[in-house]
Amino acid sequence: MWPYHPDLLSVPVPRYTSFPTAAEFGAIEGRDYREALENVSGDVSLYVHIPFCEKICFYCGCNTGAAGRRQRLTAYLDALHREIAAVSALLPAGTRVTRLSFGGGSPNAITPTDFTRLVDLLTVRFALVDPVCSIELDPRTMSPQWAQAIERIGIARASLGVQTFAPHCQHRIGRVQSEDMIVATTDMLREAGVTSLNFDLMYGLPGQTRDDLLDSLYRTRVLRADRVALFGYAHVPHIVPRQRVIDTAGMPDQAERFAMAQLGFDYLVTHGYPVVFTGPVLKG
Ligand code: SF4
Repeated sequence: MWPYHPDLLSVPVPRYTSFPTAAEFGAIEGRDYREALENVSGDVSLYVHIPFCEKICFYCGCNTGAAGRRQRLTAYLDALHREIAAVSALLPAGTRVTRLSFGGGSPNAITPTDFTRLVDLLTVRFALVDPVCSIELDPRTMSPQWAQAIERIGIARASLGVQTFAPHCQHRIGRVQSEDMIVATTDMLREAGVTSLNFDLMYGLPGQTRDDLLDSLYRTRVLRADRVALFGYAHVPHIVPRQRVIDTAGMPDQAERFAMAQLGFDYLVTHGYPVVFTGPVLKG
């Protein structure tokens, strides 16, 4: 058994998945940014952000917006193309890019054609040296055309926003996606050559029981996810106003959340997943 210390758990701590935490970062001035790019040494990783989603989930703490308005997407993609050109022009000649990550939001909120154009531009502007490519995906907007783009580009790592398989929890958090949809997405990605597949899951959701969590972990294992990111849901409507629509009846209390975290840990360790810890995070 993990020792349970409610006094420690009740102390607010930074929410982070990395160190230093996001709260430690400030806006970087244009001149500092330019100098940092000009003085890069060694190989670099590129992260490309697509801050849009087809549908916005109630719980989401990400900086993302609905992809509905084509004009807004186009304006963003144009700006991104300009940013790629500007950054590539400032890096020292010959700088090798060995990692390429696409996150959001949901990168598959844009069309596969727009995505392919983006990757084409990255290929032209940077020295991509057999980069490890990864992408975050929303099963609700996955399509065979997207799988083809992933295969053509050679993306080997993908992360799926699954969160929970329990329909009653999905409704409560505004993220309804059937098991068939998740299975079909998994199949498409495997066939497209994805060799490392992550499932994001959550515990501490409104109405979620330990059995619900166990069931989601079981289905995740059966679908042979290579990696699982199990997050504790942080209900902070004063920070994330969209969470205000979530009905908090039946929200697991602190002791229950702790039990769920332990259950998840035990399940993953028992089934051969090496475990790494982070603090609670705002999920997106
Ligand atoms: S949780 Fe993921 S899919 Fe849902 S709105 Fe946030 S970024 Fe988009």
